[in-house]
Amino acid sequence: MSSYTQRTHYAGTLREEQIGQIITLNGWVNGRRDLGGLIFIDVRDYTGIAQVVFSPQVAPSLMDPASELRDEFVIAVTGEVCKRENPNDELPTGQIEIYATGLEILNRSEVPPFEIGDRTKSSEELRLKYRYLELRNPELQRILRLRNQVYQIVHNYFEEEGFVEIETPTFVRATPEGARDYIVPSRVHPGKFYALPQSPQIYKQILMLSGFDKYVQIAKCMRDEDLRADRQPEFTQIDLEMSFVQQEDVLDVTERMLARIWKEVKKADLELPLRRMPYMEVMNRFGSDKPDTRFGMELQDVSDLFGSTEFVLFQSVLASNGSIVGLNFKGGASYSRKLIDELTDHVKRYGANGLVWLKVSGEGLEGGTAKFLLDNEINGLLEYFETEEGDMLLLVADTWRRSRIALGALRLEIARRERLIPKDVDDLLFIVDFPMFEEVDPETGKPIPAHHPFTSYRLEDEHLLDTDPMAVRSNSYDLVINGYELASGSIRIHQQDVQKKIFNLIGLTEKEAQEKFGFLLNAFRYGAPPHGGIAPGLDRLVMILAGNDNIRDVIAFPKTTRAASLMDNTPSEVDPEQLMELGIALLATEETGEN
Ligand code: ASP
Repeated sequence: MSSYTQRTHYAGTLREEQIGQIITLNGWVNGRRDLGGLIFIDVRDYTGIAQVVFSPQVAPSLMDPASELRDEFVIAVTGEVCKRENPNDELPTGQIEIYATGLEILNRSEVPPFEIGDRTKSSEELRLKYRYLELRNPELQRILRLRNQVYQIVHNYFEEEGFVEIETPTFVRATPEGARDYIVPSRVHPGKFYALPQSPQIYKQILMLSGFDKYVQIAKCMRDEDLRADRQPEFTQIDLEMSFVQQEDVLDVTERMLARIWKEVKKADLELPLRRMPYMEVMNRFGSDKPDTRFGMELQDVSDLFGSTEFVLFQSVLASNGSIVGLNFKGGASYSRKLIDELTDHVKRYGANGLVWLKVSGEGLEGGTAKFLLDNEINGLLEYFETEEGDMLLLVADTWRRSRIALGALRLEIARRERLIPKDVDDLLFIVDFPMFEEVDPETGKPIPAHHPFTSYRLEDEHLLDTDPMAVRSNSYDLVINGYELASGSIRIHQQDVQKKIFNLIGLTEKEAQEKFGFLLNAFRYGAPPHGGIAPGLDRLVMILAGNDNIRDVIAFPKTTRAASLMDNTPSEVDPEQLMELGIALLATEETGEN
């Protein structure tokens, strides 16, 4: 194709104002209908579609070529914009149609493996294989353009705020976000490996030491962890770090960025400051450190009602310092035994030993367990949960943590089943006052950092570090939107001796600490400023803004939950010679054949 008629307009922009004009469109055929001697086609470009009519009265010579047109042919079509005979009010271009006077077929297409305009009719696997075709779908076009809009807002915002954008390397030393590293063998240094960054964490801290004051980067992070539906092995963060700041400074810059994004993308005003809720409060009220606060059904600790209980399960849990928490499932008394069993299975999946259920009737409480409860306990429950007839109380008795997590998961499950979550509101909040350590490594007996090991602790809790590390609070914070953790960050440790102490506490020997993070410890010898940062996840942010819940929809070329790209068949085998050069020999592995 040497030359062709180039467009004068974009299809989706045509309106009644253009009536009478001769215009040219370049684009794809998006469906063809032959009706009463006329041929109708829709022409699609990224702005939308417009209807083109081929008529024997207007251009008889075009009827033959027009009858050749099939979906996804690429064409240049010229004609006069006319008022549409049968207007379509659903379409922005529905008031007009173009009577063709010229047609050039610029390229033909094989029959596409699925209908571009309807993603529900084909499997995601097939669409991912032909991702280049799926990306033609208007919804994916919309989302990736929205992503670009967020990208531009973020760049401009941080530029205005005096941040400097600095790229950190892709081949790095292992980084500390707690997932497995992806590693890259070095040819020049046989037997040695680079890691791909799980985040730019250490580099951004070093940039603070180097005096850059405020850093930002829209950075790719690679983490080899078991994937869930909302995770990708490589994802993008808006990574930032600031010097001489307190926690509130970081939260402030972050929430103003969000307000800017909501304003420009959603035309909505976020009320600032966003709520800050302590970790203990969200765990107690919602049973999750990323609570979905768009609906109620909050948890309540009811342990104090059961001081002299005769119910053996409650007795033993309380004797071992556990707690009894419950929620009121409004109207839940209509649930059958089978449904209650499903709810019980759900809490068990989250580690709880069982679920106590009590239906609220005219007489009080009914259910297998009710007969073990004393009158004052029943009355106490009715009062605590402000029950009405037809409600169902659901209680979990377990350790502090497990009872909350299991019941928090149940709260979400009921909300999903009963459609209690309003879809048209966004609820954003910061979670603060996290514990420094949440769990103990069962193998080493050492505490595992709840954030990462560069996070500083509350000075007033310092005395607990050696005696009761699990009670130490950190200076870390999360941003939560609609039940998604959207960002984590912290004020960092900036003194070498404190950093060494934390490494030691989590079980890194001096030698390991030197090997892994020696360069950071060394850097800290030369005057590191107090600093802190945060890293909102761009993919999830775009997902929420797009009103979507599939992370793959917001990434142009995503991976499956088995970390594969079906379009280009990654990962793939490499040439044996390449391995030789790297000094690598493969052990026999079994091919699972799954993606
Ligand atoms: N690097 C951290 C993360 O990826 C974020 C931060 O602490 O700034 O979660």
